[in-house]
Amino acid sequence: MSHPSSSHTQPSADVIVLGAGIVGVSTALALQQRGHAVCLVDRQAPGCETSYGNAGIIQREAVQPYAFPRAWQAILRVVARQGNDVHYHLRALPALAPALARYWHASAPGRYADTVTAYSALIRHCIAEHERLIVMAGAQDLVRKTGWLEAYRGGAAFERAGRAATAVASDHELDCVLLDSAGLAAAEPALRGGLAGAIHWRDPWTVTHPGELVRRYAALFEQAGGTLCRGDATTLQASGAGWRVSTADGPVEAAQAVIALGPWAPALTRPLGYRLPLFVKRGYHRHYAAEAMPTMPLLDAENGVLLAPMQQGLRLTTGAEFAHHDAPPTPVQSVRAERLAGELVRLGAPVEPTPWMGARPCVADMRPVVGRAPRHANLWFHFGHGHQGLTLGPATARLLGELFDGEAPYVDPTPYDPRRFGG
Ligand SMILES: Cc1cc2nc3c(=O)[nH]c(=O)nc-3n(C[C@H](O)[C@H](O)[C@H](O)COP(=O)(O)OP(=O)(O)OC[C@H]3O[C@@H](n4cnc5c(N)ncnc54)[C@H](O)[C@@H]3O)c2cc1C
Repeated sequence: MSHPSSSHTQPSADVIVLGAGIVGVSTALALQQRGHAVCLVDRQAPGCETSYGNAGIIQREAVQPYAFPRAWQAILRVVARQGNDVHYHLRALPALAPALARYWHASAPGRYADTVTAYSALIRHCIAEHERLIVMAGAQDLVRKTGWLEAYRGGAAFERAGRAATAVASDHELDCVLLDSAGLAAAEPALRGGLAGAIHWRDPWTVTHPGELVRRYAALFEQAGGTLCRGDATTLQASGAGWRVSTADGPVEAAQAVIALGPWAPALTRPLGYRLPLFVKRGYHRHYAAEAMPTMPLLDAENGVLLAPMQQGLRLTTGAEFAHHDAPPTPVQSVRAERLAGELVRLGAPVEPTPWMGARPCVADMRPVVGRAPRHANLWFHFGHGHQGLTLGPATARLLGELFDGEAPYVDPTPYDPRRFGG
């Protein structure tokens, strides 16, 4: 902390950024690098929540955000809880229904095609925007530039996925290579077999400790004179023409504030009167002390299990769980993931006694919310990055910085404008 409370020095700032996950830390850096004095507020140390527990992939290939399934077979499979990629709490569905209905609506082919056009224009900058920060933060040791593997057990599924991937790669200038089972075994000697093949997405970078990456970015922010404070974002209140938030170092006031609270954004936007179609897809991970790990993340695509080699061990991450954000954990997908991943590699003992749980901050139209709050002139929204927050944090932070300073934005901001949901 830059200002120990014993000194009674109150931090001052032009901008308060609320939330120090990848999105908030990237926002703080983007605004600082534009010359603003920034106070970054979180109730914990940076990068301890969702941005800690993800699969660590900077997904350059993710030009198509996860759509709501439109085929009845796919919907019935989810409803019947067949498969491991999606799980849900029945009791959560009534509250989730309005947002899910809008998610379904936004996933109709025409509307979805527009989203892919917008999303791909943003995703194409994800590596360059991270690279700048990785170099400045001296975080190269956390990053691998070898891509990741989307693997299939069934031959027919692999063929279908391979055709689709090749088409996407050609449409979006992506580099992907198809590996048959022998090619995969040669590339990844730690695998036990049982896979028909894999799509090797070669553009993405992967991170061996995403929480540490956020901490390094936050350290860069502090070294450059930024202020990091512990405080509860829900104490934000209007003060004169600006905002005030209570922190352990005393109240902080600033003319402008940015809400970058990821899955907790509704804790502030709702009391401010905004009704945004936000929901969470919870996810779990657990590390295993595998003696031999794959060299890059590998998705067991039919089962929605990702095996990510991390500093802490082999991290198994799970797909989506539709539930209330704060309902107790139900790690059934994580339990199945352990069994399924054990068929592919020798897992070793679990590192933690219980799985970690986090929540992807999702928006019904699959686009993050980036820009000025519709009814508050000096309040900014920056949240809702869903499955790709690690990927997009620095890219949307650049966009927010340009909007903040009234400059021409480097990508079209309209698809991300908070006003798309009305006032
Ligand atoms: C299992 C899993 C795998 C994933 N894999 C990937 C991947 O490979 N690639 C990718 O790009 N994305 C991935 N994601 C998604 C990604 O992790 C998220 O989109 C991203 O971390 C969201 O970042 P954020 O900064 O918005 O939220 P967070 O990281 O959750 O940050 C929000 C911050 O707000 C703080 N906060 C909350 N309430 C308050 C309060 N009242 N007062 C003060 N502070 C508060 C929290 O402490 C936290 O630090 C994955 C997610 C999961 C769950």
